[in-house]
Amino acid sequence: MRELSIYIHIPFCVRKCLYCDFLSAPAGREEIESYVNLLLREIKKQSIFYGDHRVISIFLGGGTPSLLPAADVERILEQIRRCYPVAADAEITIECNPGTVTAEKLHHYITGGINRLSVGLQSTDDAELARIGRIHSCRDFLESYRLAREAGFGNINVDLMAALPGQSVDSYRRTLERVTALAPEHISAYSLILEEGTPLYVNRSSYTFPTEEEDREMYVLTGKYLEEAGYRRYEISNYAREGFACRHNRVYWRRGDYAGFGLGASSMVGNVRWKNPEKYASYAAYVEQAEKREADEVQVLTAQEQMEEFMFLGLRLAEGVDVEEFQSLFGKSMEEVYGEPIAAFEAQGLLRRKGRMLALTPRGIDVSNVVFAAFLF
Ligand code: SF4
Repeated sequence: MRELSIYIHIPFCVRKCLYCDFLSAPAGREEIESYVNLLLREIKKQSIFYGDHRVISIFLGGGTPSLLPAADVERILEQIRRCYPVAADAEITIECNPGTVTAEKLHHYITGGINRLSVGLQSTDDAELARIGRIHSCRDFLESYRLAREAGFGNINVDLMAALPGQSVDSYRRTLERVTALAPEHISAYSLILEEGTPLYVNRSSYTFPTEEEDREMYVLTGKYLEEAGYRRYEISNYAREGFACRHNRVYWRRGDYAGFGLGASSMVGNVRWKNPEKYASYAAYVEQAEKREADEVQVLTAQEQMEEFMFLGLRLAEGVDVEEFQSLFGKSMEEVYGEPIAAFEAQGLLRRKGRMLALTPRGIDVSNVVFAAFLF
């Protein structure tokens, strides 16, 4: 049986963060309820396409999935189990924002089979949080984290952000210190990207952003600090204690099969990728006729596109890409297709080989975008 990862998109948030361009918005109880009903139908209807798959991970993301009543989360998971074979050891993650979970909710998550919690903290500095429009304080985070541990969560991810307005290298270091002191199993650390159209972008001239040098310093500090604190960088922006790399996200980087359910969710099986409609009314209509799998954007990837993705997604992982797997997937050697850039990057000390694997060196990670670009045709 082929392996499948399931992503469930919950497009609701208490209010919009100032930097956010994800598909999410505040919603009332009725809207949430009818959305969950649509999701349940989509999950069931789509199952006919995945008869030869076994689910190895489920990820409830958003948005703020923890805004849903626990009973709705349970209904979604039950529906998945009813319609798909789910592996007994499947990794099941829910994203939550500090302040949106209670002891009771967390208890329901655990009894419903959720075994991984991903907490969107971003910073432990309240002024930094307020500047980017987060709904919570550091204290809310500490309380939610404590409740999660008490409920029995033994696998917690904390999301962090660098290059925030008004953030200094010192305040970022304090965030790293405070978070690692709690010893979560996993930490994701990204730099803020100013997305066009967001309030932060529109009003960018009224904020003071870290300079390029400071941004760079924070980036270098992340790797150094977290590795010294016992985390392994298994992907460019993701760090985990031994055995806690995120199984779900690895599927994206390794181009495994995934099914996305909900508004705007993407799916990919084999060489076909498609995306659900982003507008509620179109999504509802799509669910009605989902037997035909008429998603918004269906893309059949060419062999060339698959090779490109194999390289630039796989090279994000510390282990790198498997030279022999490339040959068996595409019927050509990696050497034949990418011999030139590989030789050049090896000579520059940006790529290295270890057995059948080809991976970025630490220097290569620092300029990964340049390396990735060379693998696009
Ligand atoms: S919580 Fe996340 S998804 Fe919701 S508005 Fe903030 S950044 Fe966007």
